[in-house]
Amino acid sequence: MNKVLVAGAAGFIGHHLVNYLKDQGNWVRGVDIKPIEYPTHADDFLQRDLRSRDNCLEALTLPHGEPFDEVYQLAADMGGAEYIFSGKHDLDVMHNSAQINLNFADLNQLFKRLFYSSSACIYPQDIQKDVENTGLREEFAYPANPDSEYGWEKIFSERLYLTMMRNKGVPVRIARFHNIFGPEGTWKGGREKAPAAMCRKVAEVENGGRVEIWGDGEQTRSFLYIDECVEGIYKLMHSDFTGPVNIGSEEMISITNLVYMAADIAGKKVEIQHDLNPNAPLGVRGRNSQNDLIKEKLNWAPSFPLRKGMEKTYSWVEEQVKKDMNVHKE
Ligand code: NAD
Repeated sequence: MNKVLVAGAAGFIGHHLVNYLKDQGNWVRGVDIKPIEYPTHADDFLQRDLRSRDNCLEALTLPHGEPFDEVYQLAADMGGAEYIFSGKHDLDVMHNSAQINLNFADLNQLFKRLFYSSSACIYPQDIQKDVENTGLREEFAYPANPDSEYGWEKIFSERLYLTMMRNKGVPVRIARFHNIFGPEGTWKGGREKAPAAMCRKVAEVENGGRVEIWGDGEQTRSFLYIDECVEGIYKLMHSDFTGPVNIGSEEMISITNLVYMAADIAGKKVEIQHDLNPNAPLGVRGRNSQNDLIKEKLNWAPSFPLRKGMEKTYSWVEEQVKKDMNVHKE
């Protein structure tokens, strides 16, 4: 049986990935600094801080000393726009994530293959100034000029793992995720992504009420449903292609229309109120995935419609909002 380690296993993508890998018949150990929040089928789970090399060593050690067949390295200090773009957490974002990746690269003799989760945030800000973004091709990454320290750390770690492969011969697979969303993700507290945030705002408001969003709402993004993200990770890991490659959707939408989509799913009419504070952490103006490379190399690309993913996400977020309200009533 394949022995697999998922780092960041209590996180949004990590815990969905653990369950997917279990369904594929692997033995899976999860590791994360926080406890498991949503059910996973991991065979083993360690709650450890991976900034410590000793903890990484422990996570990568199997009872009979054999190397892990696969490591999926998703652990990172990240969050929604407020966390990443406010500038207040830049040192943590860079230092904590780089430390984890340096530890894994250093312990390369303990695994046979590693997957690394990079991000669309590595792409240069100057090519994302237009809401009509035609799509970020992988080769646009250089000359590098990301709009956040989070993006710079991801570029550094992409390169770190590529050097690990070149100098130590350990195969690496690298994906650049574009806004992954779905049920059992962060939905409140400031680290949530736009789809969960919009679902929550709509679920909390009365029919005819107001939903507040940052900026003019014309900024565009694409969002990929979680099931296709884990499928893409698995396909890439088991392909001959190293990447980096986009794992994202090409279905772009403005934030205004995302709110209206959530409202339509909820059967509510809402009015949008704009927070035009110039310091609001808006991120780039327009961002979309471009999937020619993944189609060419994996003969596959995401195709699940945004609306369908939003329907599943809305019904889950609405349930959480109701549970939360009941707790506060008690
Ligand atoms: P997440 O925050 O839910 O998961 C990351 C996990 O890493 C968390 O559970 C966190 O506790 C864990 N972690 C952080 N610091 C740790 C430490 N010191 N030791 C051990 N664990 C630690 O985020 P996610 O959305 O599941 O993202 C997973 C990966 O994908 C991350 O590397 C992220 O940068 C990348 N990514 C995600 C998206 C997205 O849209 N969700 C987009 C681009 C890239």
